[in-house]
Amino acid sequence: MGRAFKFVVLGGGNAAGYAAHEFIKRGIGPGELCIISEEPVAPYERPALSKGYLLPEGAVRLPAFHTCVAIGHERQVRAWYQDHGIELLLNTRVTSADVKKRALTTQSGETITYKTMIVATGARVLRLEEFGVTGADASNICYLRDIRDAAFLVDAMRPGQGMKAVVIGGGYIGMECTAALVANKLDVTMVYPEPHCMARLFTPEIAQFYEDRYRKKGVKFVKGTVMAAFEKSSSGKVAAVILKDGTRLPADLVVVGVGIRANTALFEGQLAIEKGGIKVDSKFRTSVSTVYAVGDVAAFPVKLYGDIRRLEHVDHARKSARHAVSAILSGDTTKDYDYLPFFYSRVFNLSWQFYGDNVGKCVLFGDQSRGKFGAYWIDERNAVVGTFLEGGSSEDYTAMARVARVRPEAPPDLADLGLSFATKL
Ligand code: FAD
Ligand code: NDP
Repeated sequence: MGRAFKFVVLGGGNAAGYAAHEFIKRGIGPGELCIISEEPVAPYERPALSKGYLLPEGAVRLPAFHTCVAIGHERQVRAWYQDHGIELLLNTRVTSADVKKRALTTQSGETITYKTMIVATGARVLRLEEFGVTGADASNICYLRDIRDAAFLVDAMRPGQGMKAVVIGGGYIGMECTAALVANKLDVTMVYPEPHCMARLFTPEIAQFYEDRYRKKGVKFVKGTVMAAFEKSSSGKVAAVILKDGTRLPADLVVVGVGIRANTALFEGQLAIEKGGIKVDSKFRTSVSTVYAVGDVAAFPVKLYGDIRRLEHVDHARKSARHAVSAILSGDTTKDYDYLPFFYSRVFNLSWQFYGDNVGKCVLFGDQSRGKFGAYWIDERNAVVGTFLEGGSSEDYTAMARVARVRPEAPPDLADLGLSFATKL
C-alpha cells in the first residue's frame, strides 16, 4: 500500500503549520502536499501550552490557537487543510525513512513517497529516566511538549490550592510552568543545578529580578543541586523528591523541564548531522537535495555570526518554514536566510525579549524596582551584539532588535544612555 505526493512535511507542529500556509499562499495545487503528524490535532501554536492553556480562569483551548493565529493569519483548523487540498495525516507516526528512495513508512505500514520533503520533526523532552533517577516512572510527574502533556498537567493540578509542586529545571519550561502553578494556587519549589534561573541567557543580576518576583509570589528555590530519586506512595504517585544531599521535598505533583533533544533519529546515517540537529544550508536544504529541514530540528547557518546553530524557538520555526517553502518553489531567487536570534517569555505580568548574541560583557540599565530594565552585551570588538529588555513597548523592542542587528559601537556611557541608545539609533 502506498501513496505519492509532490511535497511531504514530516511533523505537524509549529513549523508545519506555517509551511502549509506558505505553500497555499504560493499557489500549490490540490493533492500535492501531505503533512504527517503523530499528534491528534492540526498544527497549533505550541507556546500557548505553557501560558494561556494552563490558566485557572479563561484558559485557551483548541481550536483557538491553531497556526497561524499568533501572527494574525488565518486559523488553520482541520477543515482548512481539507478545503485547500492538503492531506493532513494525524495520529500517524513515521517509523522509518529512506531518503534515497524518497520514501517514508508509517507505524501502520503505509509507504508514502515524495519528490521533496521538509523535515519538521521538532524535538522530544529529556526524561529523568534517561538520567537513571529512581522512581521517575511515578504518576503525577509531568513533562510539557504537546497538547496531551498539557491536558495531563491541567488534570494533575486539580484541586490546586494546598497542593505541593516541585519543578525540576530552571529554564523556560521551569519558569513558565512555575508561574502557571502559582496562578493555580499550588505551593511551588523550584530545583535546578545552576546558581540562578535561565543560566544560559540571564546574568546573575537579571536572574535576581525574576527570582525576587517569584519569591514574592511564594516560590521557594533550591539551587546548585539535582534530584536523586522520587519517593512513591502505595498508589504509585509521587510523594516526595529526594535531592542529592538527602533533603526530602514533599510533592503532590512534579513538573520536569530539563531540556530537549532534536528528533533526528530517522535520518542519522542518511543526512549530515551537526549541533544535535540536521545540518542545512541557508535555504534549509540538507545534505540530500530533495530533503529540507526546518524549526527545532535544523542546524542552520547564522549569517550574522558566521556559525551554525540550532534554535529552539518559535519565531525561527515559523520563519524557517516559510523560507524553506519559498526556496523549494522559487529556487535560487530566494535569498539566503539571515536570521537575528530572538527569544522571549511572558510570566505573571512580566514580559521580556532578547535579540542577538549574549556574549562578552553585559551592561545593565534601567530601574528594576519599576519593572522596566534591560541589558546590552558588548563583544571583544566593542560592538553591541545582544539586547535584553523587560517591560518594554513594541517600539522599544523594535529598537532593541535594530541594535542587535546593526551591532553599533558601544559608547562609554551606554549604561546611562540605557534604552535611549536604542531608540535614538
Ligand atoms: P514542533 O512544534 O515540536 O513540531 C514537531 C512535530 O513533529 C510534532 O507535531 C511531533 O509530534 C511531530 N513528529 C516528530 N516526529 C515524528 C514522527 N516520527 N512521525 C510523525 N510526526 C512526528 N518558543 C518561543 O520562542 N517562545 C515561547 O514562548 C515558547 N513557548 C513554548 C512553550 C512550550 C510548552 C514548548 C514545548 C515550547 C515553546 N517554545 C517557545 C518553543 C517552540 O514551541 C518551538 O521552538 C517550536 O514549536 C518548534 O517548532 P517545530 O515545528 O520545529 O517543532
Ligand atoms: P531549557 O534548555 O530551557 O532548560 C533546561 C534546564 O534544566 C536548564 O536550566 C538545565 O541546566 C536544567 N537541567 C538539566 N538537567 C537537569 C537535571 N538533571 N536536574 C535539574 N535541572 C536540570 O529547556 P526546557 O526544558 O526549559 O524547555 C524545553 C524546550 O521548550 C526548549 O527548547 C525551550 O526553548 C522551549 N521553550 C521555550 C519557551 C520560550 O521560548 N519562552 C517556553 C517554554 C519552552 P543546564 O543549562 O545546566 O543544562
